[in-house]
Amino acid sequence: MQSKRNPITPTIPFDEDGAHHGFLRLPYSRDDSAWGSVMIPISVIRNGDRPTALFTGGNHGDEYEGPVALQNLAATLDPASITGRVIIVPAFNTPAFRAGTRTSPIDGGNLNRSFPGRPDGTVTEKIAHYFHSTLVPMADVVLDFHSGGKTLDFIPFAAAHILEDKAQEAACMAAMRAFNAPYSMRLLEIDSAGMYDTDVESQGKVFVTTELGGGGTATARLIRIARKGARNLLIHAGILKGTPEMAPSIEMDMPDSDCFVFAEHDGLIEPTADLGDYVRQGEEVARVWPTDRTGVPPVSYAAKRDGILAARHFQGLVKAGDCMAVVAEVLY
Ligand SMILES: [Zn+2]
Repeated sequence: MQSKRNPITPTIPFDEDGAHHGFLRLPYSRDDSAWGSVMIPISVIRNGDRPTALFTGGNHGDEYEGPVALQNLAATLDPASITGRVIIVPAFNTPAFRAGTRTSPIDGGNLNRSFPGRPDGTVTEKIAHYFHSTLVPMADVVLDFHSGGKTLDFIPFAAAHILEDKAQEAACMAAMRAFNAPYSMRLLEIDSAGMYDTDVESQGKVFVTTELGGGGTATARLIRIARKGARNLLIHAGILKGTPEMAPSIEMDMPDSDCFVFAEHDGLIEPTADLGDYVRQGEEVARVWPTDRTGVPPVSYAAKRDGILAARHFQGLVKAGDCMAVVAEVLY
């Protein structure tokens, strides 16, 4: 039986030198366009084919530091300044990105829970499958930008995962350090099924991800961090000539589920620690007040370990089950 082919076709070549800007065209027949397509912007900057970097932003559609940094990179990277190939996709989940939402408005798909995808699945699953089967195999180093989106805010960190293959883990950690965000995080992924990260790592690639802020916006400082990190990583990979721009970075660890504080009540959040603050185990990080009455004391939420407040719920109201805070251990 012939295996099913992914319906996505690129409008630009991957194997010709120069700067090429086009689309991954994914047929999507619908009410307002019978033979329509989802057009995923892509740039390929090439001067020889090895090594290859694959940089993505907008995996979640409401995270903006990566897309801005990658628009800059795609518009300015000179093929003559590189050895190898840089594949840039600023809006990985284009339908979600265009809608300003975390997940796709077409099928509700969370791209980062849709891997390895399906060639005959939903729009989101087809995007996942194309990366799984075509783009990731081309790559030596993969960078996927994330931030907190509309509902979370993070201290700016690059991250690499704790992996069974220690040689691969060391290569990922070195790439994370080369990115040189203000914080560098070792992550043990507790729910890795369906993630792009896991798919890329299982193909033996060097993988770096980030969390660079959030709140459904981006700041000048965070965009500078994103742009510098992408450039540093290209130099680290031997693709871009030049000297990496390095600054101190605090190394941190998220070793287990004790890092997370989840809400068990709906209500109004009173933060009692801010991002980057050092907190002790048992120390209050937030309170939740009722929204419907006065005179009732708040519910107190405490850190389950010592560390830095690395993430927090962004909006002023919280629902039971929301992640309220992440406390990460400081390594050095
Ligand atoms: Zn994300």
